[in-house]
Amino acid sequence: MTKESLEIEIKKVKGARSMRLKIGKKGTPVLTLPFWIPKKMGLIWADKQKEWIQKNTFTPNYFHAGKKILFLGQEITIQHTDERIHTHIENGILRVAGEEDFLPRRVADFIKKEFLSYMRPIVAQKEKTLGVKHSRLTLRDTSSRWGSCSSTGTLSFCWRLAMTPEFVIDYLAAHEVAHLKHMDHSKQFWKTVATLTPHTEQAKKWLKENGKNIPVLK
Ligand SMILES: [Zn+2]
Repeated sequence: MTKESLEIEIKKVKGARSMRLKIGKKGTPVLTLPFWIPKKMGLIWADKQKEWIQKNTFTPNYFHAGKKILFLGQEITIQHTDERIHTHIENGILRVAGEEDFLPRRVADFIKKEFLSYMRPIVAQKEKTLGVKHSRLTLRDTSSRWGSCSSTGTLSFCWRLAMTPEFVIDYLAAHEVAHLKHMDHSKQFWKTVATLTPHTEQAKKWLKENGKNIPVLK
């Protein structure tokens, strides 16, 4: 069982006829069980709903002290500290101060800020290759898309990309920059992408297999 799914709160409910999973007020999963179903059986069932849990669990349950995340190609461990410091990474440790309740938000803010600085030069370099320029670069958290390019030249990236391998980030940057030249997914478009990154196939495969494991964070 994963660490996340162990954080399920279990409630035995009189009159409940079947097992139910929902997201509680704190953003964590709550499993309600009829009295006649043993807790162990409920947990086994809940573990099978992992995908649903990951998709619906809010930020507070995703980032916590001790959690390891991939961040811009490096594995880091989140650590809470009582020292009065700014959030930063030191020897593979992401050190976060302040009240622990606010830790998830602080981690997310840190990732967003760093990701944008990381992304700018990558995008700029690919744009230089093509001789194009975006109008705006923004971060989003959309469940369906990792990146987008608007007709007005705004490039948007899902900030959770920061938690994917570097070759995936490179591919997404190439994909959206290529849209500044071709607004479709034509042969010409894919040819252009190929001039900007060697990672297309590998990245697509990675996203298909692992993308859903990085849940939308609200
Ligand atoms: Zn596209």
